Amino acid sequence: LIPAIRVKNLNFYYNTQKVLEGVSMDIYQSKVTAIIGPSGCGKSTFLKCLNRMIELEGEVKIEGKVEFFNQNIYERRINLNRLRRQVSMILSKPNLFPMSIYDNVAYGVKIVGWRPKVELDEIVEFAIKDADLWDEVKNKLHKSALELSGGQQQRLCIARALAVKPKVLLMDEPCFGLDAIASMKVETLIQSLRLRSELTMVIISHNLQQVTRVSDFTAFFYSNENRVGQMVEFGVTKK
Ligand code: ADP
Ligand code: ADP
Repeated sequence: LIPAIRVKNLNFYYNTQKVLEGVSMDIYQSKVTAIIGPSGCGKSTFLKCLNRMIELEGEVKIEGKVEFFNQNIYERRINLNRLRRQVSMILSKPNLFPMSIYDNVAYGVKIVGWRPKVELDEIVEFAIKDADLWDEVKNKLHKSALELSGGQQQRLCIARALAVKPKVLLMDEPCFGLDAIASMKVETLIQSLRLRSELTMVIISHNLQQVTRVSDFTAFFYSNENRVGQMVEFGVTKK
């Protein structure tokens, strides 16, 4: 087991209010780690600390270390855009751009660097295939992404992330608000990514059966008596 991300004694504050205390955790490469715990105990906050998206939330303070393949991501010289491409995040509500299906997936790739059209077409196609969405959208790549169903939008968000070849995919309740079938399709996609790639995944889920099905490790978070979130247990997911 090789840690892709090592969290060491993380404390986190919104303004001056402490929300997380003393969290230490290894997130293993090519494995799926599930994070579970009651609402408000800091799971989302923790996830956003892993790629510094937490700094988009406003006045925050972080103590401790988060290392991504041995580099402390809170060093000043880190390239934030690069970090957020390598440690990519899927939110519970699909956050597609009001653009075509194609342009959404191509967006991140274009930021990284110019590519000839044929190459871009190929990257977009492969990413959408990787996200198990190709058959559903191949005839309407130039239609607005916002016309897709909720479950399709979520898989397109995953395609958009995969197009730039992340090392880690952070997922904050990716099935939130989806009906049973759409939710199962997202879960099946997570399973297929798990089985055939080097991708490391972290998933927050309230669905314990889903956690049992998709994860290798489970971390339990809980708020202590001062309403500060802590990781109270970590281990191999019980099957
Ligand atoms: P969970 O994901 O476990 O439901 P969160 O990480 O969303 O928990 O929230 C942890 C705590 O931080 C909660 O008390 C929440 O109200 C607070 N919180 C979340 N986001 C912010 C924010 N942007 N500013 C201030 N407090 C926040
Ligand atoms: P802001 O909304 O503060 O201008 P951004 O434009 O960077 O911030 O982000 C817009 C939205 O996209 C936000 O909801 C943010 O959480 C989300 N976001 C930013 N970077 C990423 C990323 N690497 N992966 C997933 N979502 C992201």
